[in-house]
Amino acid sequence: MSEGLAVKDFLKERRRMVEEQLKARGIGDERVLEAMLAVPRHMFVEEALRSQAYNDFPLPIGEGQTISQPYSVALMTEALQLQGEETVLEIGTGSGYQSAVLSRLAKQVLTVERFPRLARKARMVFDACAYTNIMMRVGDGSVGWEEKAPFDAIMVTAGAPVVIESLKQQLVPGGRLVMPVGSFRQQVLKRIVREGAARFHEENLGACHFVPLVGHYGWRETPARSC
Ligand code: SAM
Repeated sequence: MSEGLAVKDFLKERRRMVEEQLKARGIGDERVLEAMLAVPRHMFVEEALRSQAYNDFPLPIGEGQTISQPYSVALMTEALQLQGEETVLEIGTGSGYQSAVLSRLAKQVLTVERFPRLARKARMVFDACAYTNIMMRVGDGSVGWEEKAPFDAIMVTAGAPVVIESLKQQLVPGGRLVMPVGSFRQQVLKRIVREGAARFHEENLGACHFVPLVGHYGWRETPARSC
């Protein structure tokens, strides 16, 4: 079983995921669909879970965290409207899967993870799969990455209590921020577009359910739970 999974590339499962979970639910950006078809999601989960990697739900990745459901990854990625030349900041590297999808759609991806062990595992997969345009650091991403700002797009993959002002300030004019905002258990996915120096347009993209963003502008340290 283990040997078979090691050589299997799961292309059939990826195709089915794209057709049944993404296209059928309205994901229409061809570049996003191509990226989701190309990135080997099974490489970002433990070997024992590989056969479930393309199913329609999140999976545990350790430290009480999860790799997000494929549809959430696609929806949030599509909302960033990437053309290929952008610098993107992701908060919450987790398994590294979302970073890998973004890396195929933008020039550079910077990603921040608070758990060193998850960051180390993600780095190993980036290296193994030759994702060379991803820069990662361990720390509290709720404050952004001031030294590398501004960004064309920012994605937060954990739920925050409010839209974080300092992240808005790290966007270029025209830049997009996508993040789940709400209570500890239930959030709304928000897209914020910086229309001018001090002008922002905010819209809701639907209800969602993410693990908490823990940090200075997020929640306090919490017991583990799944999303
Ligand atoms: N994008 C990830 C993937 O593709 O696997 C899934 C992200 S998981 C739903 C949320 C991640 O955010 C977890 O790995 C968690 O440790 C991380 N996180 C939570 N608060 C954070 C913070 N303040 N700074 C950086 N990472 C944080």
